Amino acid sequence: MEETYNTIAIVTNNEPFREHDSKITAYSMDQGKLELVARGTKKIKSKLAGHIEPASLISLMVIRGKQYDYVGFADGQNLYANIKNNYEKILISGQVFNYFNKIIKIGEGDLEVFDLLKDFLDSLNSEKIKNNNLSYYFFIFKLLSLLGYTPELHNCLVCKSKILANNKTKFAFNQGGLICKKCQNRSVEVLKASDNCIKMLRLILESDFKHLNKIKIEDWLAKELSFIIESYKIIYRNQ
Ligand SMILES: [Zn+2]
Repeated sequence: MEETYNTIAIVTNNEPFREHDSKITAYSMDQGKLELVARGTKKIKSKLAGHIEPASLISLMVIRGKQYDYVGFADGQNLYANIKNNYEKILISGQVFNYFNKIIKIGEGDLEVFDLLKDFLDSLNSEKIKNNNLSYYFFIFKLLSLLGYTPELHNCLVCKSKILANNKTKFAFNQGGLICKKCQNRSVEVLKASDNCIKMLRLILESDFKHLNKIKIEDWLAKELSFIIESYKIIYRNQ
């Protein structure tokens, strides 16, 4: 008898596999990252194909196999039509999935990670969202923090004193936190972190995606924030 199980999952990649099949990557609520073969999806009459595109929340029956596990059945719970009909949103969700698939390994199940990914898609899909790009940085920074890389944003990494609002603070992305004016020296790679940017970084970690829809930030601040978060991704490079 075939062994099967049911789960809820978010599809994060779909690529052609063999002549008529696809290989999908998904992150499930209780089993973490999955790699599954979906049979017959390249055939015109495939009922499965529409439910297993990236950025789909699906209920799923998985059949365990010797070499591969297979999609036995998939049904769309939320297919996030606003994302799939908007080129910018497709690009942003694609960037998130790319990074996510790279750093999340098979068998690392974590409900908080699942919820974060779902919150990100809900938010990006929302009509209210003002800044699509910001949702990408929101997600990346919160994900790194969930995985155990919460940066120090309140006290100086070196002298431990409280970070003051003086626009003289720097962010040491290799070390994962802020460095006060007194402790900055040339041997450590740092980026400028204005007081407003530090406030945004704290806000990202302390608030949820619902809050994101209310945020409007100026271009210079978005740029500074993106430099810091892009550079901070380095903290995960050797994992
Ligand atoms: Zn210091």
